Amino acid sequence: MIWGGYDPTPKKEYVIEKRVAIVTGASRGIGRAIAIRLAADGRHLVGFARNAEQLEDLRVEITAAGGSCEMKSCDVGDGAALAAAIEEIAERHGRLDIMVNNAGITRDGLILRMSDEDFDDVLRINLRSAFVACRTAARPMMRGRFGRIVNIGSVSGIMGNAGQANYAAAKAGLIGLTKSIAKELGGKGLTANVIAPGFIESDMTSALPAALREAVLPAIPLKRFGTGNDIAAAVSYITSDEAGYVTGQVLSVDGGLGM
Ligand code: NAP
Repeated sequence: MIWGGYDPTPKKEYVIEKRVAIVTGASRGIGRAIAIRLAADGRHLVGFARNAEQLEDLRVEITAAGGSCEMKSCDVGDGAALAAAIEEIAERHGRLDIMVNNAGITRDGLILRMSDEDFDDVLRINLRSAFVACRTAARPMMRGRFGRIVNIGSVSGIMGNAGQANYAAAKAGLIGLTKSIAKELGGKGLTANVIAPGFIESDMTSALPAALREAVLPAIPLKRFGTGNDIAAAVSYITSDEAGYVTGQVLSVDGGLGM
């Protein structure tokens, strides 16, 4: 039956039964935790990142735990390469169900000293790559009449953060991108949401000065830094079939830091 032009019947035969999920920046940190969780959820997990050795470690870990996965070396800053990698996965499996745009970098500095290059690099890796991935992933998701797009934002994109004008701009941009996609593609069975982490233990935050880490902790109502698993649990929910009525939202997973 067709309601308002929307035919929920998948147009294409699926090559594999499992839902196929791509996670960018899967080699370490938050992305690695998300990848492990989605594989444990029964997804066929496809991890993208540049570091092939770390990706291979992840592949071994997921496979040893009985999960299904494959890894792809990919620089998300190269839009053509990113789009080609996503298209190849969707074509080979006959489906793409979940796209998690997690890869991110920081190039912190006060605005007066921030170079054009540091601004552009952060926008290219943190925002433009998500745009390219969403645009590319949308077609196979529409063909399958199902899609879960998740963009990993940040508390900085909601509140701003001194020393992170580039990063906060990119993360705030992700919110506008995600809400627009949610409105454009909701009628095709796709949802798009932002998960906004607070201060999470990873390579990104371990590089920060100890004094800064100590200054942040009292401002977190739950009195601890977050873990990759805290974020992975939220991604697990928002990419589930049961979350089919949740779209265009920004879910903060920040211990209350952004309240
Ligand atoms: P991380 O430990 O530094 O890991 C970053 C990940 O992104 C790595 O897997 C890295 O893989 C990948 N990446 C970076 N540049 C890439 C590129 N050009 N192409 C492909 N992959 C690339 O950072 P994290 O803390 O896990 O952060 C993950 C996400 O959460 C980011 O979007 C970050 O902004 C966001 N976030 C983090 C925090 C926090 O407190 N940690 C808070 C809010 C939001 P390769 O180096 O192998 O390419």
